[in-house]
Amino acid sequence: MPEAIIKIRRRPKVIIAGEENITGAENNVPLYDQHLHSHHSVDSKADPAQNVRHAIEIGLDGVTFTEHYDAHPSEWPVCIYDYDRIAQTVNALRTDYGDRIFIGHGIEICYQPAQEAQILEHLSTHAFDLVLLSVHWFDGRALHERDHWEGLTPEVATRRYLEAVLEAVGYVRQLKARGHDHFDILGHLDLVKRYTQRYFGTYDIASQADLVDAILRACLETDLIPEVNLSSLFQSLPEPMPADWVVRRYAELGGRAMTLGSDAHAPARVGHKLKEGAEMLKAQGIDYLAVFKQRQRSFVPL
Ligand SMILES: [Zn+2]
Ligand SMILES: [Zn+2]
Repeated sequence: MPEAIIKIRRRPKVIIAGEENITGAENNVPLYDQHLHSHHSVDSKADPAQNVRHAIEIGLDGVTFTEHYDAHPSEWPVCIYDYDRIAQTVNALRTDYGDRIFIGHGIEICYQPAQEAQILEHLSTHAFDLVLLSVHWFDGRALHERDHWEGLTPEVATRRYLEAVLEAVGYVRQLKARGHDHFDILGHLDLVKRYTQRYFGTYDIASQADLVDAILRACLETDLIPEVNLSSLFQSLPEPMPADWVVRRYAELGGRAMTLGSDAHAPARVGHKLKEGAEMLKAQGIDYLAVFKQRQRSFVPL
């Protein structure tokens, strides 16, 4: 990974624009919230303009909308991912607020390899600032469906979930080998703990450190940036997803840059704990925030 202060990884067929604005100079730490939702996602009622106004009020450098693209056949009918409406919203927000904050159009793709044709078709025919890959399902079970946990213990679910995440990163590597370079970020890699905490009052990722290690190594080999997702801090957990010890391990393995996301589904949560997250990354040995614009990656010093 590059050593200079700001490095842009140029992808083919993209226009280089706005990179001079990525400095983070107005803050001690760069504050880009690159994972949030609005009413364009099925599980959010947030007004996108309110999201942006809140982000400006708390001094963020940028926000990137990552609306859900849930292609599982049981979820697709209600997901209603409408690219054109989202693009219209983002463009209007850029007109109104673009002189004060960067506003990105990203997407959160739910890992569904059985729906590969549909997902690849969508990603290859639409423009995004970033593409986030998130594992919400494992073994045909959705984390967020209580009924799907029938017969599972927290230990088994945690291991099987992390195995699915490792599989997802391997899948991204296979896609790249086949010429499909569509994914930038791995979302909330230990999301399972939010649900074991919710359903069982317990969580334990540390006992699966071998699998976490394998996931981090696979991310480095695949050039997929792991996110630190702060939404668990708003719920019943004392740590983000993943926790500081995982960030430190990623740095030890050679990782230099990560992204931060509030995963806000309501305006007041946009940017929540972002500054603390950036300080934690730095304290654990991560040198840069990875910031995506038009799927070009910049490394902004922490
Ligand atoms: Zn997610
Ligand atoms: Zn999300």
